[in-house]
Amino acid sequence: MTTTTPRPIPDGVPERIRHYIGGELVDSADGAVLDVIDPVTNEVYVRAAAGKKADIDRAVAAARKAFTEGPWPKLLPRERSRVLNRVADLVEARDKKLAALESFDSGLPISQALGQARRAAENFRFFADLIVAQADDTYKVPGRQVNYVNRKPIGVAGLITPWNTPFMLESWKLAPALATGNTVVLKPAEFTPLSASLWAEIFEEAGLPQGVFNLVNGFGEEAGDALVKHPDVPLISFTGESGTGSLIFGNAAPFLKGLSMELGGKSPAIVFADADLETAIDATIFGVFSLNGERCTAGSRILVERAIYDEFVERYAEQAKRVVVGDPSEPTTEVGALVHPEHYEKVMKYIEIGKTEGRLVAGGGRPDGFPTGNYVAPTVFADVKPDARIFQEEIFGPVVAITPFDSEEEALALANNTKYGLAAYVWTNDLKRAHNFAQSVEAGMVWLNSNNVRDLRTPFGGVKASGLGHEGGYRSIDFYTDQQAVHINL
Ligand code: NAD
Repeated sequence: MTTTTPRPIPDGVPERIRHYIGGELVDSADGAVLDVIDPVTNEVYVRAAAGKKADIDRAVAAARKAFTEGPWPKLLPRERSRVLNRVADLVEARDKKLAALESFDSGLPISQALGQARRAAENFRFFADLIVAQADDTYKVPGRQVNYVNRKPIGVAGLITPWNTPFMLESWKLAPALATGNTVVLKPAEFTPLSASLWAEIFEEAGLPQGVFNLVNGFGEEAGDALVKHPDVPLISFTGESGTGSLIFGNAAPFLKGLSMELGGKSPAIVFADADLETAIDATIFGVFSLNGERCTAGSRILVERAIYDEFVERYAEQAKRVVVGDPSEPTTEVGALVHPEHYEKVMKYIEIGKTEGRLVAGGGRPDGFPTGNYVAPTVFADVKPDARIFQEEIFGPVVAITPFDSEEEALALANNTKYGLAAYVWTNDLKRAHNFAQSVEAGMVWLNSNNVRDLRTPFGGVKASGLGHEGGYRSIDFYTDQQAVHINL
């Protein structure tokens, strides 16, 4: 770990980050706290309450009371929608403050953190709209029977989120869980609790009844584990590593909980020789180096057709060297500091492994001019074989592996040759090939000649080790509601 003098702490950082339970900011029952680190200096800049089972019990009790006795689950969709729209307004009104706090806490470039804050507002606005547009299903057998479906909120939803783009990913779960009338306990990631601490005042100002939103900070093995094992929490929406997902799956099994799992990835970007090379290079640079490479859908393996391979590698490496690494708070920064020294060590270890597995053509360690902080130069390895660890394992940093292919069949086999299946990106001007490739590639989401931009109505999720179940649009409504069939004979 490297250290340096502290940098100015932005306005709005509380003296201490606390839990929010039943409408009150509270400390842990045992007074425990955890250190929160500034990724630029690796100095502790604030402490957060470290929740344990007692705190989760208290939060679940508050959420359960708000569900069974409070107004929220019984409100008309339009009434809940109004509150959600107010949340969106409040997030938009605070977008710069949110971005400043998120960037300070996570090391994300400020310009990208601002985009994520706006996306969080959009998630609330989208589910506010969707819930009022929701049509109840009806099935008729003429002259004999009418069947219709009652949708009901399920109860207390446990929401467990990771440290990458934390505020936006929290909104992705909070918005549909609340829109459908559930009450929630959110357990944000221990590395990045700062932006989550803003939800309490946002929800209070938006008029969400007390006890509907509860927040418990803390470690996954303590607070997260207690939430997963709480008998009064019938559903868990989790985003994080595949290994953690599988552990949670096992821990939730005795309770037969509803589970939504958004897990890791090692997504391929496949560039065919007929692609628009300049656009493909720009997009694949953005695809792995934006958000510091700490992005579940990062295109961290690039498969390139042999005819353009040498030119692609040369141009790609040159462009990777021009990506601006800098202080996360600078508007011109494109890659900031990685979230935490532990994660920095992990990424650096993979870079050393990569030096024995591939040909280093850009980066390869700490960038010049950054002697301290969790900075990693955008790193590119070429000629990476499919059995290499840097081809198979999720690095979750600004590191990319490039591999050549000779035929479409080989490209497909390489694309599918990992345990993951979250996203895939295909670059070709042959539309027939693009659609057929999309059909065959093992990925929950495919972008054809496109950057990673999502329409919120589409399914979001992965196959294989990248996830279980899909959210997005009506699929999120499905996950957060029970569907009761009512049958009537005519
Ligand atoms: P992580 O699995 O270490 O932690 C995620 C959350 O789970 C944290 O809040 C953590 O405290 C909690 N947790 C840890 N152990 C737990 C346990 N035993 N019981 C309950 N909760 C527990 O993941 P991370 O390092 O924070 O995030 C990075 C990972 O998230 C990457 O693998 C990335 O690909 C994945 N991710 C996936 C998506 C997606 O939508 N598919 C989106 C973002 C990130």
